This record gives sequence, C-alpha cells and structure tokens, in this order.
Amino acid sequence: MTSAPFAPTVETNPAARTDAEREAILASPGFGNHFTDHMFLAEWTPEQGWHDARVVPYGPLQLDPATAVLHYAQEIFEGLKAYAWADGSVRVFRAEENAARLQRSAHRLALPELPQDWFLGSVDALVAADRAWVPEGGETSLYLRPFMFASEAFLGVRPSQHVTYCVIASPAGAYFPGGVKPVSIWLSTQYSRAGAGGTGAAKCGGNYAASLLPQQEAAQHGCQQVAFLDSTEQRWIEELGGMNLYFVQSDGSIVTPELSGSILEGITRESILTIARDLGHDVVERRVSIDEWREGTADGTITEVFACGTAAVVTPVGVLKWDGGEAVAGDGEAGKITMDVRSALVDLQYGRAEDRHGWMRRI
Ligand code: PMP
Repeated sequence: MTSAPFAPTVETNPAARTDAEREAILASPGFGNHFTDHMFLAEWTPEQGWHDARVVPYGPLQLDPATAVLHYAQEIFEGLKAYAWADGSVRVFRAEENAARLQRSAHRLALPELPQDWFLGSVDALVAADRAWVPEGGETSLYLRPFMFASEAFLGVRPSQHVTYCVIASPAGAYFPGGVKPVSIWLSTQYSRAGAGGTGAAKCGGNYAASLLPQQEAAQHGCQQVAFLDSTEQRWIEELGGMNLYFVQSDGSIVTPELSGSILEGITRESILTIARDLGHDVVERRVSIDEWREGTADGTITEVFACGTAAVVTPVGVLKWDGGEAVAGDGEAGKITMDVRSALVDLQYGRAEDRHGWMRRI
C-alpha cells in the first residue's frame, strides 16, 4: 500500500511551558529527562499505508492492555541530534542515514518501512514546532527519538496490522561538562548482546532489554559500560551496550570491528571511517579478537581505544576489566588521535568546520 503524501497537521500546545520554565530546563537539561512541548505521530494500516501525520501537544499515549508491543516487543527506534549553529540555523547530522537504518530495522522486525521523506519530514516538523527547545552553547543539542511500535490490540503472534510512528525530542546537555573523561568497560563473558541470525543489527528495544543485566554486572565491577563478544565463539569483539569501538594502532592506523550482522551499524562509526581518513589515517574494518585487545594494549601495538555513538560522540576507553584481569591502553587517559577524531566530528556538527560531505541537513 502506498502512503499518503507527507502533509502533517500541526496542533499547537496550549499548555506549552513559559519562556522562563523552558530557560530553566535548558540551563541544565541533563540527558533524557525533559521533553519538548510537542511530538509527532503517524499511523500505518495495510489498507491505508502511512497516514495521519500530525504534530500534537506532547503527552501520554493511551494503550489498550492487549497492545501487541507490550507483549511481543515489536518495536524499533532511532536516535539523532539537532544542533544550533552560530548563524542561527538548526542542523541535523546525517538524518538520511537514520531514515535508512530505521527502514532496515523495520524489515527485521516485520514492521512497515517508513518512507525517507516521512522520516525527514517528521524530524523537520517537530524541530520547527519546538525550535525554542534547541539548546545553545557548549556541546548541547536537541536529541530526537523517532520510534515505531505495534499498536494493534491483538494477542496473536503475527506482525501488527496497526503501527504507530512517533518522534519525541529532549534537550541534551554536554555529555562531558567537565572535559572528556575515559570510560571503564566490563567484558561480559556470560552474556551476549545478540546472536547470529538475531536482531543485533536492528535498533529494537529488545536488544537493550537484554543488555541491562550485563550492564548491572558491569556496574557491580565498578565499570560504566559493557563490551560484548560474538555469541558463537566468544572471541570476536562486537561492541558496547550503546556504542561501537575503535582501536588505534602504534602505526597510526585505526581499526574497527567489521560488521558481523549482530553489530549495530552506528552512524558515528560510519562517519569516523571517513573522518579518520580525511585526517590521514588508514582505517580498516576487520575482525578484532579479545586476545588482540588484551595483548595489543600490553605490548603497545594498540595505543588508544575509543567508543563512539550519537550520545557521547567519541569517548576514550580507559580500562577493560574482566574476571581476573584488566587491560589499559596507553596511559589510560584520552589519546591524541581519539581527541583529534572527536574534535573533527564535533567541529563539523557545530558548524565550526566545513561540511565537506554534506552531512548537516538544515531544518
Ligand atoms: N551500538 C549500539 C548498540 C547503539 O545503541 C548505538 C547508539 N545508537 C551505537 C552502537 C552507535 O550508533 P550511532 O552512532 O548511530 O548512535
């Protein structure tokens, strides 16, 4: 079924926060705590395709207790940021890539694909309605969370015949307000994040539910993040619970685990392939074993390790811990190449460097 042309209606929120209330929130937004005054919604049915695009006041959704997503987790999401530039414009980073990944996730979860113009249009419409909520200054942004879920009230296990797409927005403060700090990582040997043939490459809620217990285990060991290995051999490094990994070698080349089908194809990861090459580094996608991480940091072949994703952009990895040992890259502090890559990406996102690749979409 083809979808209707994208033509959203806009209903302004009569209970929108005052300028003073909004300014108070924007002064220290944190992450994921506060939401803007509006949200975007659209519906899908087999008969009508995508329809009923609308910007409405932000508020609770009312769900029948039999709504399929509550039982079978047929749900996918995205995460991207809008940035206020010094010239007064608002830009989003590589939103076309998020649109494409949402389509791939939809395919894996047997959800209907959202056309790219609907995805970009939904982001534009919400950011336009809530322009005043895009924070300014430092590394702040408006985090956008598009998501799609099975909204049919039916308990049979089959793809939902009613699907809802929604976008909400949340002002985000600087991830590292006091300067970039290395994270500590716990190596999960008992649990995998995703299995061969599973949903690891899709951005679906279930993957994150499965990562919470290992994340708790990491916290018990004093670590902030978990690293997962492949589920078959428990040998190849996949990624963290919410970030991809890069390894800087002593010869200046940079290696990232190749896509395995169970790794999430991070848009930051993909962008760094290009940015690091622009900076003159050789960048290689290949399998990296956990032994290589341990031995490489011990013998100096690996000089820096960093993680990357939309939330933190680029984060140095200080220490990897496991039951009985730990591995520290370099001196455990943020490495020079890590910080160069980070600056190159952040400068581009905030309009301080030329957008050579056409990645910043103006809203
Ligand atoms: N891996 C996982 C499991 C994630 O949740 C994320 C965050 N979306 C990433 C990697 C990084 O992806 P991106 O750069 O698109 O934010």
